[in-house]
Amino acid sequence: MLNREIETIERSELEKLQLTRFRFTLSQAFKTEFYKKRFSRIGLSSPEDIQQLSDIKKIPFTTKDDLREGYPEGFLAVHKDEVVRLHASSGTTGMPTVVHHTKRDLDNWTRLCTRSLIATGATKSDTFQNMMTYGLFTGGLGLHYGAEALGMLVIPAGAGNTKRQIQLMRDFKTTVVHATPSYLLHMADEVAKEGITPPKLGLKKAMIGAEPHSENIRKKLEDIFKIDAYNSYGMSEMNGPGVAFECIAKDGMHLWEDAYYMEIINPESCENLGEDCEGELVLTTLEREATPLIRYRTRDLTSVIAGLCSCGRTSRRIRRIKGRSDDMLIINGVNLFPSQIEAILMKHPEVGTNYLIQIEKKSSLDKITVKTEIYPKLFSGEITDLDRVKKVIHDEIKSACLVNASIEFHEPGSLPVSQGKAVRVSDLRKEE
Ligand code: AMP
Ligand code: ZN
Repeated sequence: MLNREIETIERSELEKLQLTRFRFTLSQAFKTEFYKKRFSRIGLSSPEDIQQLSDIKKIPFTTKDDLREGYPEGFLAVHKDEVVRLHASSGTTGMPTVVHHTKRDLDNWTRLCTRSLIATGATKSDTFQNMMTYGLFTGGLGLHYGAEALGMLVIPAGAGNTKRQIQLMRDFKTTVVHATPSYLLHMADEVAKEGITPPKLGLKKAMIGAEPHSENIRKKLEDIFKIDAYNSYGMSEMNGPGVAFECIAKDGMHLWEDAYYMEIINPESCENLGEDCEGELVLTTLEREATPLIRYRTRDLTSVIAGLCSCGRTSRRIRRIKGRSDDMLIINGVNLFPSQIEAILMKHPEVGTNYLIQIEKKSSLDKITVKTEIYPKLFSGEITDLDRVKKVIHDEIKSACLVNASIEFHEPGSLPVSQGKAVRVSDLRKEE
């Protein structure tokens, strides 16, 4: 059930709560090796020096490099005896970073995950099949405990082994799944190979996250499985899933502001931006005991949606993540996000569920090739038909992204699939 007291809290009350909690974060930060040094450098001597929330701007950002520098215990704010678990990032962009948790930290995280699942309309009557990787990666355990606390029947299936996933779904009548969107798309093909029409599985909802995906990917999944799919956002530095989540309105993700203080900044000038302005999301933990993080630069690009959500929750919403400021590609001087290409590909019903963007250097120019799987059945068999769709995709990419991409079509199942986060870009320029 909706926790009215906290989820529909008035803005002024929320800000009071955030200030109290931010002071708590600061008091924890003073106990860490990393922040102690940093605070003495900027002349901050006590949490009481922070009078209002906007004073947060006096504190420098924390970056992924800082976290690496603090590896393994530079950010630890409690005695080791109080730590009950640690998690590490998947290292999508380099060395992993570590976050320690106390028992209370884990309880708070679980509460956010339960709240997120409830926002999508899931109930204790649902059976939850968790197809995320368990382990150091936070995708598995976070929603696992959240779903258990909600009272769902949880199947800790983990990632991969698609045949077994399908079997579990059929035998135990799974109604809610949690997976990366790319894995769920891959699964759709496998289900079809087994001779099952996907809606026959009886799924009702999917929680999809851990990687950027377009609105068209969501629609495709909803259409294939006849489900409602909800975008789930998080990162290990901020616990994991349960940072921001879509509610039944599916109009942006509620960022749980009682647990995280958010700012959006221009990634170059670092100035703070207002609502509806796209920039990099910066987050501060407000509840965490073991690993307080202040103004953490997520590198994820989004914007805050102005106005309240129709569901009644007052936590502000962020838009679908456009990509990371550091996975922006520059193709012959033009800035390009893989998500822009994906949005175009997924509009076409003939296009399958897997694709790869490859970039090479050809006599000093960047050459971009978009390889995508297709559904051969949807073509007439005439070569001209294939060429027609290729040309449409090429022209759409040209006009929307200003790059001249070669389009290659591949058989379903022929492009590489990863078990965790999808690898969508192969940039061969770096290897030359
Ligand atoms: P990790 O810490 O390994 O879980 O990776 C976290 C990163 O995954 C985030 O900073 C985002 O770049 C990405 N991510 C997680 N969830 C989503 C989502 N729903 N949409 C887009 N990107 C996501
Ligand atoms: Zn809502």
